[in-house]
Amino acid sequence: NRQILLKDYVSGFPKETDMVLTSTTTSSKVPPGSGAVLLKNIYLSCDPYMRGRMSKPISQNYADSFVPGSVIYGYGVAKVVDSEHPDLKAGDLVWGITGWEEFSLVSNPRRLLKIKHTDVPLSYYTGILGMPGLTAYVGFHEICSPKKGETVYVSAASGAVGQLVGQFAKLMGCYVVGSAGSKEKVDLLKNKFGFDDAFNYKEEHDLNAALKRCFPEGIDIYFENVGGRMLDAVLLNMKVHGRIAVCGLISQYNLHEQEGVHNLFCVITKRIRMQGFIEPDHKHLYPQFLELAVQYIREGKIVYVEDIAEGLENAPSALIGLFSGRNVGKQVVRIAHE
Ligand code: NDP
Repeated sequence: NRQILLKDYVSGFPKETDMVLTSTTTSSKVPPGSGAVLLKNIYLSCDPYMRGRMSKPISQNYADSFVPGSVIYGYGVAKVVDSEHPDLKAGDLVWGITGWEEFSLVSNPRRLLKIKHTDVPLSYYTGILGMPGLTAYVGFHEICSPKKGETVYVSAASGAVGQLVGQFAKLMGCYVVGSAGSKEKVDLLKNKFGFDDAFNYKEEHDLNAALKRCFPEGIDIYFENVGGRMLDAVLLNMKVHGRIAVCGLISQYNLHEQEGVHNLFCVITKRIRMQGFIEPDHKHLYPQFLELAVQYIREGKIVYVEDIAEGLENAPSALIGLFSGRNVGKQVVRIAHE
């Protein structure tokens, strides 16, 4: 059973060498009466929040740290190969928390959901039909209180979450602009996801001017994925009574010292509602979200771009690639055939 372990706690930008590939033997049977399941992992999800788990435990993190020397874990899609759990049987497909390894013995399968719609790509359960999908849905519809005709700005817009926020906003009848870090991504935003406009933030010396160009009348809704300089420029361009959903601050995750935000005063003067949220608080909305998203996919109302790396040995580089923008769309790792 090949596995990826965290070598030691990480500080600063993560490197491939912070993780190691090892091999061990794992029993092919679940201990009788244990209530556990044995999974054959098929897809592993690379998500930015996993960076927090690589750090020494600190109180600000909402997710527990990985244990140095132990297997990394995260969302994935797997097939049950043996089960002592009443709700799961061999052959079932599931998604949820699993290990970065070929086979995982899950002693408490409470965080595994059985996959019932299999006419869509299975990898989607790491993205549009999984945690990033629900994040985009609750972040936009619950936190932003959007109305038809409003102006919406999304940063990290071509990623796992951002591409969906933009498409949800278009379905709602909003005017949507996204930013991303390459020409290829900007083209995707405009030509594949239907954003009204998009720009490459790495080519804009003055983010404030770029936002003024895209939103001459100002921004009603900002879906925040990156933080730092971007948030500062957005604050200057928000409309009165605008809303900001703080989903993530990826530009800050690897910095020793957080970048200061200088324009926070705009929150008062413009009566902006700025609200952080985390997807785990909204799990109760998953069933209704799943049915809606599956319907959107079947009807072609929503498209989803994935970046699929092949092989467990390539999982570390796929994960760290999130922090340089190497991924184009949702980053997934395929480690076995369906
Ligand atoms: P993505 O698929 O968007 O991958 C991360 C992207 O972030 C990269 O491709 C890169 O795109 C961009 N990026 C990386 N470094 C920087 C930087 N320094 N400045 C600006 N952009 C950068 O990831 P997700 O869609 O999964 O996640 C997006 C955000 O949502 C993250 O902040 C994440 O932490 C957050 N999140 C929050 C959740 C919650 O419950 N609150 C749940 C899930 C995600 P580019 O080439 O455009 O720079």
